Amino acid sequence: MKLYSTNNDTNQVSFEDAVFNSMPQDKGLYMPLSIPRLPDSFFEQLPNYTLPQLAFEVSKHLLSDAIPETDLKALIDDAVNFDAPAVKLDEDVYVLELFHGPSLAFKDFGARFMSRVMSYFLREGQKQLDVLVATSGDTGGAVALGFLGVPNTRVTILYPKGKVSDIQELQLTTNGQNIRAVQIEGTFDDCQALVKQAFVDAELNEQFRLTSANSINIARLIPQTFYYFNAYAQLLREGKKDVAFCVPSGNFGNIGAGLLAWKMGLPVKQFIAATNANDTVPQYFKTGIYEPKPSVQTLSNAMDVGNPSNWARIANLFKDDAEALKKLVVSYSYTDEQTRTAISEVFDRYNYVVCPHTAIAWKALTEWQQEHPNVSGVFLSTAHPCKFPDVFPANIAAAIKVPEQMKELEQRKRQATTLDKNFDSFKAYLIKQA
Ligand SMILES: *Cc1c(COP(=O)(O)O)cnc(C)c1O
Repeated sequence: MKLYSTNNDTNQVSFEDAVFNSMPQDKGLYMPLSIPRLPDSFFEQLPNYTLPQLAFEVSKHLLSDAIPETDLKALIDDAVNFDAPAVKLDEDVYVLELFHGPSLAFKDFGARFMSRVMSYFLREGQKQLDVLVATSGDTGGAVALGFLGVPNTRVTILYPKGKVSDIQELQLTTNGQNIRAVQIEGTFDDCQALVKQAFVDAELNEQFRLTSANSINIARLIPQTFYYFNAYAQLLREGKKDVAFCVPSGNFGNIGAGLLAWKMGLPVKQFIAATNANDTVPQYFKTGIYEPKPSVQTLSNAMDVGNPSNWARIANLFKDDAEALKKLVVSYSYTDEQTRTAISEVFDRYNYVVCPHTAIAWKALTEWQQEHPNVSGVFLSTAHPCKFPDVFPANIAAAIKVPEQMKELEQRKRQATTLDKNFDSFKAYLIKQA
C-alpha cells in the first residue's frame, strides 16, 4: 500500500514510513493511494467470519505488499484478541460494545494494532523505539497497554497532573516494564506542547528514535474498520440488511474508519456522527461552512475537539463529491443536560448503563430512527461506563459492573515522575533517564 498526503498527492510514502512518521512534513494526513473494493466472494462469506478472520481478510487487501500474509495473520491474532459484540437492546437497536480490550475503550483496537505493526517493522539490532504520547485520559491508557511488553519499544506518557480520572490514572501509572508515566504540572495542551517540541529538538532526535502514537496514525485507523464489518456480519446473521451506524465523534477517526469500510464495499445505509457541544461538523452540515473553533469542556470529554483532525481524511475521501458525503453522513449535537437525560433514559428503558459518549450516540440514533423506522441502528459504545464514575446518579452508578481487570489494577503501586511544564525539565528528564 502506498500512501499520499492529503495536502499533496505527489508526496507518496510506504506504509512503514507512514506508520513511523505519523504525519507528513506538509502537515496533511496520510491516505491510501487506492482503497480496494473487497471482492464479492468476501461479501458472500461475510456472515461466516469471526472478528479475527474478518480483520485478516480486510487487512490482507490493504497491507499484503507491506507485511506477508502469515506475519499479518499472527500480528492480527495477537492484536485483536478481544470481542466486539453488537448487543441487542430493542428491535432494530443494537449497541456495539467496543470496550472489551485492556483499557476498556475502543482506542485499544488502534493502539494494539499500531504497536504490533511498529514492533514488526523494527529490524533486529535497531535502536529502541521511543514513543512519546500526551494524553487527556483515554489515549494514554490504550497506548500504554498496547505497547506493554512489546520488545524494543519504550513509551513515555505525559498527562496533566490531577486532571485525569482515577481509573485512567491507574491505567497510566501501574504498568512498569517498558512504560513510564510523567505527570505535568499544567494542562493537556502543555503536555502536547512538550511532546511536539521534543520531536523537533535536534539533540533528542540524535540520541533517541522518537515516534508519536497519536490518533492520526494510519495504523490506528485501519483496525477500526474491522468492527464495522464484524457488526454488519452479526446483523446479517439476524436477517438485517439495512443498517445505520451512529458514532460518537471527537477527532472523527472512528467514523472515518467506518467510511473507509464503506469505501471497501460495506453496504451501510447511513452514518450518523454524534457530537457534544463541540459541533464543528454538525454546523458544517447545516451551513456548508467548515469553521474550526476552540474546544469547550463537556461531560463527554474524549470528544471535546473543536478542530477534528481526521476531518481532512473524510473530506479527501469525498473530494469529488461533497453531495455524496452529505447523503451518507448526517450529524447531530447534544448538550451535557441532554447527555445526562439520555443516560437515564437508556437505563430506564433497557437496564443498561452507557458512558456519556455512548449516550450521545444513542440519542442521535433514536432521533434519526424516528424518521427511518425500517433501518436497523447500531450505536457505537466507545468506553466502559466505569471509566467515568462521577457522571452517574447513585442508582445508575450502583448498576455498573467493574471488570475484574480494573479491580486488579487497584492493588498495584502507582508510579509517576512529576515535572513542571518547562521543556528544559522534560528534556533533562529524557536524557537523564535514558
Ligand atoms: C476518543 C474517544 C471518542 C472519539 O473518537 P474519535 O475517533 O476521536 O472521533 C469517543 N469516545 C471515547 C470514549 C473516546 O475515548
